Amino acid sequence: MFNMFGMSSNDIGIDLGTASILVYIKGKGVVLKEPSVVAIDRDTNRILAIGEEARLMIGRTPGNIIAIRPLRHGVISDYTVTEKMLKYFINKAVGKKTLLRPRIAVCIPSGATEVERKAVEDATYQAGAKEVSIIEEPVAAAIGAGIDISKACGNMIVDIGGGTTDIAVISLGGPVSTSIKVAGDDFDEAVVRYMRKKHNLLIGERTGEDIKIQIGAAYRRPEVLTMEVRGRNLVTGLPKTIVVTSDETLEALQEPAMQIVDAVHNVLERTPPELAADIYDRGIVFTGGGSLIYGLDQLCQEKTGITTMIAEAPLTAVAIGTGKFIEFQNGDSADAKKEY
Ligand code: ADP
Ligand code: MG
Repeated sequence: MFNMFGMSSNDIGIDLGTASILVYIKGKGVVLKEPSVVAIDRDTNRILAIGEEARLMIGRTPGNIIAIRPLRHGVISDYTVTEKMLKYFINKAVGKKTLLRPRIAVCIPSGATEVERKAVEDATYQAGAKEVSIIEEPVAAAIGAGIDISKACGNMIVDIGGGTTDIAVISLGGPVSTSIKVAGDDFDEAVVRYMRKKHNLLIGERTGEDIKIQIGAAYRRPEVLTMEVRGRNLVTGLPKTIVVTSDETLEALQEPAMQIVDAVHNVLERTPPELAADIYDRGIVFTGGGSLIYGLDQLCQEKTGITTMIAEAPLTAVAIGTGKFIEFQNGDSADAKKEY
C-alpha cells in the first residue's frame, strides 16, 4: 500500500538477535518479541517448537528434546534452523492475509560471514519479502536510539546483546567498528562460575541470569541487595540455599565488564582525533539488554572519562532502527526520526 508520499506502509524491520528476535512494523511498532530458541527432537531432527514455546520447554522436557539457540555468539550455527525460525516469525507477525509483499530489512549480529548474510537474505525472500536489505547492527542501533545518521559525525554506539557486543563510531564515512564475543551471556556464566568457586554451589544459567538481573552490579550499588539462591551443594550433592549479595556479584562480574570497557577503549584509540572529540562532546550511547546490568554505564564513564548514557528503549532500539533504515535507504528520511 502506498500513501501520497510514495512510501510503503508495510515496511518491516527484524532484529535477529542472539537472545531475542523482534519484529517492527512501520506504523504499528514492535509487534513481536520472542526468544531466539528452537526446540528439536534429537532422534528425528524435527523442529518441535520455536520462540517462547521452545524456551518454556528448556529443562522441562525428556532427554531427546533439546533447545538450541541457533545464533548464539553471533554466528549462525545452524542455517536450516535459522531459516525456519525466521520464516515462522515473519509469518506470525505479518499474517498470511496480506496481499502486498513487504519490504523487509533484517539486522544480523555483526561478525556474520558473507555466506551467513546471503543465507539470511535468501530465507527472507522465501518468507515472502518483495525487497530485502541486510543491515549493520550499529547503524540500526544508532537510528533506533534517535541519532540522525544522515548528519552523524562521531557518535559512539555500544550495543550489548546476549552473545555479542558491537562497538561502533558512526560517521559520514561509515562505521568504524568492532564486535566482541563478550556480552550478556558471559555475565550469566561468570555468576555461575563464581557460585561454584566461592560457595561450592552448582546453579544453572537461568539462575545465573536471574541473579545478574535482580542484584547484579558492575559498579558498587549505593545499598547492598541480597537474594536467596538455590542450587546443588557440590560436596554433598544435596540441594542447598544460600544468600548472595550484590557486592559478591561485583566481584563475579568484574572480568566481563572490564572486557567490554577495554574494547570501548580500543575503539576510541583507533578513532581519528576529530571524531574522538565529537564523541567526547556527545557521549557514548548504550543499547541492548546487556546494557541494563547495573552500573555498566557508570563503569564505562569512569574508565573512559566520557559521559555514557543508556538509550531510552535499549531492548527495542535495533528493531526500530532496522525498520526505519528502509526509509533512509529510499531517501524518504524526513519522517524517519519521528513516528515510533
Ligand atoms: P540480542 O540482541 O543478542 O538478542 P538483547 O539485546 O535482547 O540481545 O539482550 C539480551 C541480554 O540482555 C541477555 O543477556 C539478558 O540477560 C540481558 N538483560 C535483559 N534485561 C536485563 C536487565 N534488566 N538487567 C541486566 N541484563 C538484562
Ligand atoms: Mg541485539
